[in-house]
Amino acid sequence: MVRIAIVPGDGIGREVIPVAWNIISSLHPEFESFEVEVGYARWQRTGIACTDEDISVMKEADAILFGAVTTPPDSCYSSVILGIRHALDLYANLRPVKGDDFDIMIVRENSEGLYSGIEWREKDRACTVRVVSVEGSRRIARCASHLAKARGCLLTIGNKANVIKSDVLFREICCEEASRAGIPFEACFIDSLALDILQHPKRYGVIVTTNIFGDILSDVAGYLVGGLGMLPSANIGDQHALFEPVHGSAPDIAGQGRANPIAAIRSGAMLLTHLGYKEDAELIEDAIRSVCQSGIRTPDLGGSASTGSFGEAIRSALGC
Ligand code: NAD
Repeated sequence: MVRIAIVPGDGIGREVIPVAWNIISSLHPEFESFEVEVGYARWQRTGIACTDEDISVMKEADAILFGAVTTPPDSCYSSVILGIRHALDLYANLRPVKGDDFDIMIVRENSEGLYSGIEWREKDRACTVRVVSVEGSRRIARCASHLAKARGCLLTIGNKANVIKSDVLFREICCEEASRAGIPFEACFIDSLALDILQHPKRYGVIVTTNIFGDILSDVAGYLVGGLGMLPSANIGDQHALFEPVHGSAPDIAGQGRANPIAAIRSGAMLLTHLGYKEDAELIEDAIRSVCQSGIRTPDLGGSASTGSFGEAIRSALGC
C-alpha cells in the first residue's frame, strides 16, 4: 500500500495542496494519505511549528507532498522546511524548468552551503557559515552527472569560484564526477549564468549548483515559464522524498483563491514519477497544457479562474 504524507503548511500551501492531492487521489484512489500539520500558523496557535513526532511520521510515508511554510524574519524561529530537509537528508533539490523548446533541470545542493544553519549574531555583526564539504559536493555532483548522462545533455556547473574559495572545491568535485561519468560539462559563473539562462535557455540541460545559488537561479528561470506558480520541485535523499512547489506561502494572495496550483500539481506529477507512475505524470502534464490552451488560467497567467476551478478543469481533462 502506497502511503502519502500530505503537508499543506501555510498560506497558499493550504489552497494548492488539496487541489494537487485531489488530482492524484482521483488517479490513484488506492493510495492512503495522512495529513501532518506543520508551520507558522501552528506555531502561532500552539508555540510549536514542527515536532520530532511529525518528522517520524513523515519518515514512514512513501512520499511527502508539501505546500509551503511561512518563515517570519525572527531570529528565534527556525525554518521548518530546512529542518525537514536536514532531518530526512533530502540532499538533492531537483527543479525542472520546461518550455516548448527548452528542458532544463536545476539540481540544487540542498543540505549545506549558505543554508548550513551555522549562524550567530554578535553585537556589531551577524555571521552565517557557508559549508561546502567534499561528501556533500560529491553526492550532488554524482546525482547531477547521472541525470545529465540519462538525458544525454550538457552538465553546467554554476559557481562563483572566482571570488568564493568554497566554490573552488565545489567546482573541482563536480568536474571530477562529470569526467568520471563521461559527459560533456562546462563551469559557468552564477551571475552571468543567471542572465544567459534567460537569453539562451535552449543551451542548457542539467545545471548543478550550491544551495542558495540554486534557490535563486530557479526563481529567475521561472520568468521563462510564466512565474513562480508554474515551477515544481522534488527533494530527494537516499531514503525519503518530498515534493513541493518552488514558491512560498505567498501571504499577499493567501485566502483569495487566486493561487496558481500548477506548481503543486506538477510536484504531484513528480511524486507519481518517483513512485513509478510516469505515464500518469505525462497525462497530468498534457492536461495542464490543454486546459491552459483552452484559456482557463489563474490571474497570474492573465486569466480569471480560481485555484479550485482550475483544479476541476484538470480533473475533467483527465476524465476523472
Ligand atoms: P513567494 O513564493 O511566497 O511569493 C513571491 C511572489 O510570487 C508573491 O507576489 C506571490 O503572490 C507570487 N506567487 C507565489 N506563488 C504563487 C502562485 N502559486 N500563484 C500565484 N502567485 C504566486 O515568496 P515570498 O513572498 O518571498 O515568501 C513568502 C513566505 O514564503 C516567506 O515566509 C518565505 O519564507 C516562505 N517561503 C517558503 C518556501 C517553502 O516553504 N519551501 C519557499 C519560499 C518562500
